[in-house]
Amino acid sequence: MFIPAFESLVFLKLGNPHAALYLKREELNKDYDDQQIIFLGEINEKFYFTYEVDKTKKEKLISSEVDVKELVYFTPLLSKFDSSILSFSRSLVLWHHQNKFCGVCGSKTKSIDGGFARICTNEECKKVIFPRVDPSIIVLIYHEDKCLLGRQERWPEGMYSTIAGFVELGESLKSCLEREVYEETGLNLKNIQYKYSDPWPFPGSLMLGYFAEAKSTKLNIDRDELDDCRWFTREELTNAIKSKEIRLPLTSSISFRLINEWMNNE
Ligand SMILES: [Zn+2]
Repeated sequence: MFIPAFESLVFLKLGNPHAALYLKREELNKDYDDQQIIFLGEINEKFYFTYEVDKTKKEKLISSEVDVKELVYFTPLLSKFDSSILSFSRSLVLWHHQNKFCGVCGSKTKSIDGGFARICTNEECKKVIFPRVDPSIIVLIYHEDKCLLGRQERWPEGMYSTIAGFVELGESLKSCLEREVYEETGLNLKNIQYKYSDPWPFPGSLMLGYFAEAKSTKLNIDRDELDDCRWFTREELTNAIKSKEIRLPLTSSISFRLINEWMNNE
């Protein structure tokens, strides 16, 4: 099975529910060269591949039943399998798209190992590069019976979520968490508890989700980072969602899972 992709976009078969577009080899119309084919893996004796199409081929694939979309908005509307395989496809295709030249000598690179690495074509250099993962933390902060949710200005109106940030060079996950939270909210933390992780392929993050208890509720909000930040009891949060004053992130997101777990943890 072949999964086409275009830059950061994926092809979806529109319907209820939507589904990933899978093509058989004979349906590809030689729309690729072998260099472009990336092996994703074997599942239940089926082999899955992905490849990038150009603009003309992209237009050819679009029809009344098929469209090309940003996956981030569609993951909740897809089956778990389709959403996972499209995330994987999108991350790898985008990585190849952005790494066509060597960062050391500037020569062209080519795909090797079924698309899991690229090598510089300059014989003197031969630098091998691998897709990288950027770890980031996301944390549900609580104090007694309240949890802290914030919003960024660029988010859809009314959306509130947990605090998040990227791990910097030389930082442990714990120090990243303490720094991000202190910088954005002025809070100090205790009882930091790892919960779960999720790949977030936009473009290549690995989100590590935590619960942490704030030592106090006194906020000192960094207005460059957060548009607003508020403490909610479970009842206040339920009412604010019901009255549509606020809304939570997509149910497929790790932030939603953290908030949901806290809501059910009375
Ligand atoms: Zn090179």
